[in-house]
Parts: sequence; C-alpha cells; structure tokens
Amino acid sequence: MPSTLKTLTHWVFDMDGTLTVGVHDFPAIRRALEIPQGADILHHLDTLPAAERDAKHAWLLEHERELALRSTAATGAVELVQALCERGCRLGILTRNAKELAHITLTAIGLDDCFAPDDVLGRDEAPPKPHPGGLEHFIRRWQVTPPQVVMVGDSPLDLECGRAAGTRTVLVNVAENRWPALADWHMRDCRALAQAL
Ligand SMILES: [Mg+2]
Repeated sequence: MPSTLKTLTHWVFDMDGTLTVGVHDFPAIRRALEIPQGADILHHLDTLPAAERDAKHAWLLEHERELALRSTAATGAVELVQALCERGCRLGILTRNAKELAHITLTAIGLDDCFAPDDVLGRDEAPPKPHPGGLEHFIRRWQVTPPQVVMVGDSPLDLECGRAAGTRTVLVNVAENRWPALADWHMRDCRALAQAL
C-alpha cells in the first residue's frame, strides 16, 4: 500500500451514517414514493415524468430536512474531523443528500466550520455515488493524485466510488467488513480511525 493513514492529507467524507448516526429508513422512503424495494432511489426518480419526478424530489427534500435538523454526530466523528482540520488537512463532503441539507446537518453536529462551502458536494453538484464524478471533482480542484485522497464511508457505494476514482478507502460504523476487496481500511468507528492517525 503506497500510503498510510497518517500521511493522508486530503479526506472526503460521506455524511449520513458516517459523520452522523444513520436515521434514514430507506424502505419507508421507497414505500412513500412508490419506488420498488431494492431500486436506487435517486436513479429511479430520474426515470419518472418531469411533474411526478419534481413532486417526489420535493417530498424527499422535506423529509430529509426533518432528519437533518435532528442529526446527531456519530461516535468520534467530531473529534476526528476537528483533529484533521487542525492538522491542516483538506476536507470534503460527498453525499447523496442535498447540499443545503448537508450544511444543516453539519451545523447541527458542530462541524460546518471545518468544510469550505465549495467542498461540500450534494446530489445536485455531483453524480450520485458510486459514480466517481464527485471524487474526480475534488482531485481536480485540489490538484492532487487519486492515491493522495481517501474516501471515508459506511456503505459499499462509498467504497465503490473510491475504487472507481482510484482513491484510498476507509469503511467505518459497521461491525464487520463485508467488502474487503473495496476497503483499504476498516475501523469500528471514527473514534478508532482518529486513534490510528
Ligand atoms: Mg452513508
């Protein structure tokens, strides 16, 4: 492995379930929006006629706004991000949530100051993960090579996104690493990750 966690200087975080305690009930969202169970919610909405698509996107935004306002930080997330911030690391957010709600969430958990506004990418600023477009945007913007960047997330979508863009990957907040081929590191939570730095 060309880099160790200690030498990485450019960190991109998933938000929901990674920096926050995950509260999205995706099966319930699919039921409410009449999306087949197992289908990708954002991709499915894009296939609908414009009026229906817009109405369902608006419902989703309001539903997620309620969740964002009540966000709580995941174990060790605030300490980890603040430690990286103090070291002068470059930090970004890549979320399938809306950018507006990402800022509400980050404010709720006390981390909004750690991320430059242009380094928070939501579903309208980048193609949804696992598409590597969001990470490629950060790589260009920060003028770094892919292996200098690490993607931290709690789902295979985050890890696949990192693999596709050629970045390092860290899996957090799951008891077991079910995707060993996709994760360069697996840490129990952000506290364990911070202790490894
Ligand atoms: Mg997540």
